[in-house]
Amino acid sequence: MIKQIIFLIVVLITLGVFTYSSLKYFKYFKFTKKKPIGDFGKRIWITIKVALFQEKILRRPIIGLMHALVWWGFILILFGSLEMILDGLFGTERVFVFLGPVYDIIIAAGDISAFVIALLILAFLFRRLFMHIKRFYGPEMKKVSKMDANFALTIIFILMITLLGMNTYYLLWCDSTGEVVHGSYPISNIIAGFFDGIPAEQLWMGYQINWWAHIVWIFIFANILPYSKHFHVFMSVPNVFISNLTPVGYADNMAEITKEVKLMMDPDAAFADVPEEEGDPTRFGVKDVEDLNWINYFNSLACTECGRCTSVCPANITGKLLSPRKIMMDTRARMKQKGPGLVKEGRSFDDGNSLLGTFITEEELWACTQCNACVQECPVNINQASLILDMRRYLVMEESKAPTGLNTVFSNIENNGAPWQFSPEDRMLWAEGLDVPLMADGSAPEYLFWVGSAGAFDDRYKKVTREFIKILNHLKVNYAVLGIEETDSGDVARRSGNEMLFQMQAMMNIEILNGYEVKNIITCDPHDFNTLKNEYPDFDGNYKVIHHSQFLQQQIAAGKLSIDGKEFAGKKITFHDPCYLGRANGEYNAPRSVLDALPSSNVEMARNKSFALCCGAGGGQMFKEAEKGVKEVFLERTEDALNTGCDIIATACPFCMVMMTDGLKYKNKEEEIKNYDIAELVSISMGL
Ligand code: SF4
Ligand code: SF4
Repeated sequence: MIKQIIFLIVVLITLGVFTYSSLKYFKYFKFTKKKPIGDFGKRIWITIKVALFQEKILRRPIIGLMHALVWWGFILILFGSLEMILDGLFGTERVFVFLGPVYDIIIAAGDISAFVIALLILAFLFRRLFMHIKRFYGPEMKKVSKMDANFALTIIFILMITLLGMNTYYLLWCDSTGEVVHGSYPISNIIAGFFDGIPAEQLWMGYQINWWAHIVWIFIFANILPYSKHFHVFMSVPNVFISNLTPVGYADNMAEITKEVKLMMDPDAAFADVPEEEGDPTRFGVKDVEDLNWINYFNSLACTECGRCTSVCPANITGKLLSPRKIMMDTRARMKQKGPGLVKEGRSFDDGNSLLGTFITEEELWACTQCNACVQECPVNINQASLILDMRRYLVMEESKAPTGLNTVFSNIENNGAPWQFSPEDRMLWAEGLDVPLMADGSAPEYLFWVGSAGAFDDRYKKVTREFIKILNHLKVNYAVLGIEETDSGDVARRSGNEMLFQMQAMMNIEILNGYEVKNIITCDPHDFNTLKNEYPDFDGNYKVIHHSQFLQQQIAAGKLSIDGKEFAGKKITFHDPCYLGRANGEYNAPRSVLDALPSSNVEMARNKSFALCCGAGGGQMFKEAEKGVKEVFLERTEDALNTGCDIIATACPFCMVMMTDGLKYKNKEEEIKNYDIAELVSISMGL
């Protein structure tokens, strides 16, 4: 009975302190913005895949399996911990023993897990203390962050040792007293074999000491967590549950901007579908923590500081200031700093600091290529890129602060409908000498071929557009283009933070596309592919959009393209994955299937498919000076390609084409190694 009372007191103190500590974080949620989440079926599924089965961690098999084993082991051990709590509260002895063989299996699994986890924790500690793993370092990783991680690992190690100790003493005591052993303990059985002749009372005492040590360390650990980065232990699974269900490339729509744009485009329009803002008008984008939505803040609490995002960030890899891990750590730190003031004085509280400015600099934000490698890599599905975009939105729309190159792009898009200073009337010059049908001719074709600004104006990519048209004409595809009725999709403006301009472009294009009752769109530009496919539906632009790599794959599979390709026989081709085709939309196979149809040999870069490094052009980078760093991203990626020993770098994106071509020039390799779009490879192979 005394044990029960002491245990009850310990449990109550634990719960009390834990609730008090956790509430400190949770009361700040009321200062964040609402963001609805639905589709709970899909959410459960994503939680099973990412959280339970560790889908993302296991993308890197060895270290992934090590982490996954610790996680799965914890789940198994949790059963025994729950039993200990119930036994402690109700004075029972092994309350779940009635489960019979199931009990034996779970307890055995827990015993093995404790041993495996203990070994893995030693390995993790060794890595952290003695191996210079780059992702554990960085300016944002202060001494306290590193100590925090090592401390938590040490506690977990103690928990596993006390669990094994408890099991071993239990077995020895049963053996010594003739008591029936409940459960199965494969590892502890082996350990027990090393001990003999210990008196029963000492064995019982040893069992009790380990029992109490184990459970009390669990309680201590639980109460340290809210004060350390390891709070993610509680936050990561729910964070996966609330994570983005949209394709990675989709950027959240800003309804408040939609209202403004609709007003600008049609002052008489009715806005019944756009809810009025309640209370004070909100800022566009994110400057400080009260501009965050609740998911942004939740993300910051779930961040494990593992640094996986930073380790794949092209900006960080090339020595720029940006670290997506720091973005999340700063968000958490700023809420911790400002939260108490907000609670005390309400939203009007101002301490003279802000998330953007005091914690995060503009230089960091403008280094981002919006490649989403960080989002792809994060084991708990945090969306760092969307927060970076929201801060860019603030800079551009509230402060009119953007790098010079991007300001030029904005005014070019506004005035000419393209990021470059070309007349909209020149949009069809690329087609000179080719037979290209126009939508305005009134034929209601099966496909609209979306040329895109780069396809129409970039000198190198105009050649690709022409080659693709030759393929369409050869196949007698029923298609047409918008010609001078097409205007920039707005993708560059959106990723650069100019949501207003993006939405204006989107609405103008959609009006024209819907006017022609377009159903199917083909495009060579993965950025426009992503925007038209995933983002135009927010403005009633609903089309079936395919990328030219997918179209070519389909035609090859249907046997409609007779590819000879003797020009490429024996050549080594490597494919660079465009971020907005691959990571953003999960299309890795289509371009590779096209290459497989050639008589060449295809080689992969070390970083390929979902691990592919960005070419460095996305997020508006192509139009601005690179931020300070040790290297340009396009050079890092060109080196990836050169390391394969390839003869040809194949791409499927106008921006990647520019970057890879520049990279080859910079490396003086443009004579030896060629850069082709997959459409060119097909058309050359067919002698078109
Ligand atoms: S989107 Fe790409 S460049 Fe931007 S923070 Fe993430 S990994 Fe870095
Ligand atoms: S954001 Fe995700 S990947 Fe980056 S440090 Fe945090 S948990 Fe790790």
